[in-house]
Amino acid sequence: MKILVTGGAGFIGCNFINKQINETDNIILNYDKLTYAGNLESLIAIEGSEHYSFVKGDICDRDLVQKTIHNFQPDALVNFAAESHVDRSIDGPMEFIQTNIVGTAVLLDESLKYFKSLGGRNFRFHHVSTDEVYGSLDESGYFLETTSYDPSSPYSASKASSDHLVRAWNRTFDLPILITNCSNNYGPYQFPEKLIPLMILNCLENKPLPVYGTGENVRDWLFVDDHCDAIYTVLKFGTVGETYNIGGNNEIKNIDIVNSICNILDKILPKSDGSYADLISYVTDRPGHDFRYAIDASKIQTKLGWSPKESFDSGIRKTIEWYLTNKSWWENIQNNSYQQERLGVVTK
Ligand code: NAD
Repeated sequence: MKILVTGGAGFIGCNFINKQINETDNIILNYDKLTYAGNLESLIAIEGSEHYSFVKGDICDRDLVQKTIHNFQPDALVNFAAESHVDRSIDGPMEFIQTNIVGTAVLLDESLKYFKSLGGRNFRFHHVSTDEVYGSLDESGYFLETTSYDPSSPYSASKASSDHLVRAWNRTFDLPILITNCSNNYGPYQFPEKLIPLMILNCLENKPLPVYGTGENVRDWLFVDDHCDAIYTVLKFGTVGETYNIGGNNEIKNIDIVNSICNILDKILPKSDGSYADLISYVTDRPGHDFRYAIDASKIQTKLGWSPKESFDSGIRKTIEWYLTNKSWWENIQNNSYQQERLGVVTK
């Protein structure tokens, strides 16, 4: 397969591309704007491969999108490109509207033109989305593919909007689409604004560990490698026009995530002056903070035979070890753009 990957220099996209180049014969073109979250250092291991190429570009740039699709002639487009951090969407929502909604519409429209020119040859537009589109759950219940959308943040609202556009291009114009809505990912190469790498780096630097509100919020965590496998499974075997929820069956409270990182580090890199958990500091909650997300992933499991391989215990250990052994990757980020500061606090 020739796969055009958008946003392949980000966290999930780079894991997907590294895995594709290492484990398949597929040919990958990575189209990425290289925002603060895009990092070509995450792809160093495969950049010399003749199966990999890169184009720097914005998914909102219609001319370049058209030219790139036309020149590459993909069998599939997998859209990872997005503004992805809820806190940044509180500080500056317009960038999210532009990339996540307008950019997705540009990709759809140019993919449709291309698909029509193929004269019946196979093509898939795979849109990578989030469980946050479904809104917040109480203590019980799960998100199904049929759950109504009820997003809370500018980020999740922009992703919800993009999902609707993708479905519309299928129902109205017959573009062969697939949508996956996945729970929270963690693993190597995640930008340190997100909970798990933020806590790891703050531990390593003896900085406070900021836990929002009471730390009781629940997320369903999935190791990034499992998400990449799920996407590829849906791309190959999914039914056109359908949505698949992807989740890890790993519901964990934020405070328990932080404590488990502290406990592992206490064992493998003990602090001389107590436990890492002493650094925990409860801070003002995120505005509009959803209480609980939980995915029912039985559709992808029963219809396509995918299930996660990694347990949270093994995945979090691998992740911590990755950040310990890849210091220069995150130090470059700290030197260039982000020093683990708090984002997304609304000042009225
Ligand atoms: P990320 O922020 O790490 O990476 C996003 C990538 O998109 C970056 O490389 C960035 O440079 C690129 N990009 C941003 N705007 C662009 C534009 N206008 N044109 C081209 N490229 C652009 O995000 P991620 O965590 O890897 O998430 C990837 C996708 O998966 C997103 O669509 C996100 O909504 C979805 N998702 C993420 C998670 C998660 O836990 N991280 C969970 C479910 C779904």
